[in-house]
Amino acid sequence: MSLIGIYNHPKAAKMAYFGLYAQQHRGQQSAGIVSRRPPKAAGEELQIFEHIGLGLVPDVFPEEVLNQLRGSRAIGHVLYSRSGSPRLRDAEPFRVQHRGLDLSIAHNGALLNAECLRLRLEKAGAIFHTNTDSEIFAHLIIEALEKGDNLSEAVISACKAVRGAFCLLILANDQMIAVRDPLGIKPLSLGRVEKTDTWVIASETCAFDLLEAQVTRSIRPGEMIIIDAAENLNAPNLTSIQWANSPGCKHCVFELVYFARPDSVVFGEEVYSCRKRMGIQTAKEAPCKADCVMPLPDSGVYFALGYAQGTGLPYEHAMIRNHYVGRTFIQPTQEMRSFDVRIKLNPVSGFIRGKRVVIADDSIVRGTTVRGRTSHLRESGAKEVHFRVSSPPVKFPCLYGVDFPSREELIAVHKSNEEIREYIGLDSLHHLSLEGLKEVLAKPESFCYACFDGNYPILPDDEEENAANCESCVKSAHK
Ligand code: AMP
Repeated sequence: MSLIGIYNHPKAAKMAYFGLYAQQHRGQQSAGIVSRRPPKAAGEELQIFEHIGLGLVPDVFPEEVLNQLRGSRAIGHVLYSRSGSPRLRDAEPFRVQHRGLDLSIAHNGALLNAECLRLRLEKAGAIFHTNTDSEIFAHLIIEALEKGDNLSEAVISACKAVRGAFCLLILANDQMIAVRDPLGIKPLSLGRVEKTDTWVIASETCAFDLLEAQVTRSIRPGEMIIIDAAENLNAPNLTSIQWANSPGCKHCVFELVYFARPDSVVFGEEVYSCRKRMGIQTAKEAPCKADCVMPLPDSGVYFALGYAQGTGLPYEHAMIRNHYVGRTFIQPTQEMRSFDVRIKLNPVSGFIRGKRVVIADDSIVRGTTVRGRTSHLRESGAKEVHFRVSSPPVKFPCLYGVDFPSREELIAVHKSNEEIREYIGLDSLHHLSLEGLKEVLAKPESFCYACFDGNYPILPDDEEENAANCESCVKSAHK
C-alpha cells in the first residue's frame, strides 16, 4: 500500500495522482483520492471531492474524472493485494462524516489488535462498513473527539490504542496529519515542491522525484506531523509532535529486498545500491561456474547486477518480460499465478541453448515463479540452471502488511534447501544468508527480519483473551 499527501497546491489532486502513479508498484487493487477546496472568499463553502475505484491508477482516474477533483489539499492511496477478491468498499481513503467533521483517512500497514478493537467499538454501538484498518482509526478518533479531544489529540489517542504497523494520512479540518508507528515499520517521508510552499508526504521517495519535490526528511517513528493553513500567513504551518517514544526502529527489510522501487531511498538506504550489494555478498557466499547470470525481471535485476560484478560472470538479459502484466504474486488463485508467470516472462531460446545459466531473483515464496522459469529454461535448451536468491528463505508470514501466504503455503517451511532445489529442478540453489543480508545494511539492528527468523517485534494478542478484556488491551497499547 502507499500513501500520498499534497498540501497547498492549486492542483493537489493531480499531484496526488502522479504521486500514486509513481508508487503503483506498491498496490494495484484499488486507488483513491480525496481532495478539499477551502473557501476562498466569505460566503463560500468548503468543497470536498473524492473518487475511488478498483484497478490501476490511470484506469481509475481518467482525465475527466481527475479534473473534477479540485482543491489545494489532497490525500491518495493505492491498495495492495490481500487474499481474496478486491472489494470496492475497502478501497481508501476511508471517508466519514461526524457532527460537522469530514474525516478522510488512508493507511499503510496492518493492525494486530484490529479484531479486538472492532469488537469493542461494535459493542459500544459503532457500525462498520468496510474491513479496513482505516475505519477502525476513524471510530477511535471519533470516540476521542466525543470525549473532548481536539483532532490531533484524538489521532494520538487512536494511535495509542492500536498495535501494529501503521503510517497514516488524514485530511480534516483544513489540516493534513501524517503519523508513523513507534517502530517505523513502513516508510513515510516529508518533502516540499522546489521553491514553493507545497508540502508533499509519500511512502516512497520516487514519488517526490516525479513531483519535482525535495525530500526534507523521513517522518520519525512515533512522530506526528500536522500541516495546516496558519492564519495571517501565506505559507502553511508545520508542527511536529513526538506522540510516542520509539523503543528503536524495526523497519521492514522486505522493502529493501523486494517491495520498494530501486530509485527510492528507503530507511536511509538507496534501494538500488543496496540490492547490488546483496548480489555482491551472494557472490562471496555462493560463486558459480556458469556462462552468464540473468535476472528474473524486474525484481531480480539489481541483485543480478551485483552478483555479476561479484563473480565476474557476464550479465545477460535473456529472460524477456512482458511489461503489460502486473506483479506475478498479486493474483487471487494459484492457477492464475502460474499462468501469469508464463505470460510475464519468456526466455530467448536461441541464446540460452547449450548454456549454463545462473538466474537471480529476490525471494522464493511458494516457488511458483522460479519453478515455472526453470522448466521453461530447460525446454529452451539450457544445459545447467542455477538459482541465486537475494534473501534468506521466507519461513514466517508477515504480520505487518506484506502479503505472504499462510505458513502452510511457504515452500521453505516444509522443504530443506536441497528439497527445494530438487523440487524446482535446479542444478544449485543458494539463498543469501541472514548474516550476509545484515552485512550489506548500514544499520542492521534497526530492521525487522521476522519473515526469515520469526522474531516478531510486536506479537499478536490472544484474540479470545482480548475480546474478553478489550479495555485492558486498549490501555496496554503503546505505553
Ligand atoms: P513465488 O513465485 O510464490 O515463489 O513468489 C516469489 C516471487 O514473487 C518473487 O519473484 C518475488 O519477486 C515476488 N514476491 C515475493 N514476495 C512478494 C509479495 N509479498 N508480494 C508480491 N510479490 C512478491
